[in-house]
Amino acid sequence: MLIQEEMSLQEKLGILADAAKYDVSCSSSGSQRRGKAGMLGNTVSPGICHSFAADGRCISLLKILFTNQCIYDCRYCINRRSNDVVRTSFTPDEVCHLTMEFYRRNYIEGLFLSSGVLKSPDYTMDLLYQTLWKLRNEYRFNGYIHMKVIPGADPVLVEQIGLLADRVSINMELPTAEGLKKLAPGKTRERILSPMKQISGKIRQREIVPYRGQRTFVPAGQSTQMIVGATPESDYQMITIAEALYQRFDLKRVYYSAFVRVNEDSLLPVIPGGPPLLREHRLYQADWLMRFYGFQAGELLNEKRPNFNAFLDPKCDWALNHLEQFPVEVNRADYQTLLRVPGIGVKSAKRIVAARRGAALDYGDLKKIGVVLKRAVYFITCKGKMMYPTRIDQDLLPAAG
Ligand code: SF4
Repeated sequence: MLIQEEMSLQEKLGILADAAKYDVSCSSSGSQRRGKAGMLGNTVSPGICHSFAADGRCISLLKILFTNQCIYDCRYCINRRSNDVVRTSFTPDEVCHLTMEFYRRNYIEGLFLSSGVLKSPDYTMDLLYQTLWKLRNEYRFNGYIHMKVIPGADPVLVEQIGLLADRVSINMELPTAEGLKKLAPGKTRERILSPMKQISGKIRQREIVPYRGQRTFVPAGQSTQMIVGATPESDYQMITIAEALYQRFDLKRVYYSAFVRVNEDSLLPVIPGGPPLLREHRLYQADWLMRFYGFQAGELLNEKRPNFNAFLDPKCDWALNHLEQFPVEVNRADYQTLLRVPGIGVKSAKRIVAARRGAALDYGDLKKIGVVLKRAVYFITCKGKMMYPTRIDQDLLPAAG
């Protein structure tokens, strides 16, 4: 391990912002637009990402690791102990200084701080706590802070962090205990789930008995990340786990991160075609359906059909496998039924329910409301009639786009 003692703050920032880029548990980045003459800004340099505050605003965050040193050897991680990369750490004051300077220059509205594990989870978590405490109390920083919780850290530290940060996340990384054992032997499900449970308990408690005279405990809630494709879990397993996390621990978001093979390691898969981005995309679509459309994981996939269709989004795929439930009459179907029609989203379903109170809707009205008719027409009737006398067919939808 090459630990650089003498390094400028700028050099540390280059290393520790770059090392943070594989963590997607704040919504973010990933685009590669370079700066252009005569234009301001680029998206190539790591360091700034975007997330959503508790009130739904999109905000830009300084995204860094406190350190890229680590006592663990997770096979998939660029910062693992056995990799021969240059290592460095910030001090709490350095992180505070950078955050304040970036904030004053209007580059960022907040901080996303993660870390490798120095010496022990408690030692690292304590450094992160000191950083947060200084930022809030000495530097008087009142902006958004998303902080990573280190699995295995003392619950007292987790609680203290939760009273200073807006959002916290504990990464699942690998969805099953077997996956963790194989690729992240220093971590266990128990060590990951136990702080999640603690945080969700505190969030529920804060909703019943508001903290008086104290900051609200993680007002923007908690999130996690799962790596897609590093281990052989199916999409069904991934969404079933995500569903359980939403239900049991009130997670705000589960992020899915297509596996990127940054290390040569015989235990890591070689995926033809590179990172499974389409799979990641399908998981996000399914996650959206579970959070906003009332779908359950077991409706979208099952053990006999464990993976999403590469050619159809999960909602179309579900509809084509449940043709007995279609067509639905848009002037009568309830809100939840409308949400299941391909081409009708949350906004358009609400608008349909509101607009049809005045008069029965026709296809022209649906178009104005924002329904994607090229998809929806195969699944609906308006005033009892289909738009085209078309038989729904499994091959039709992909062509409809
Ligand atoms: S704990 Fe594992 S994933 Fe996290 S920095 Fe260390 S090696 Fe990487």
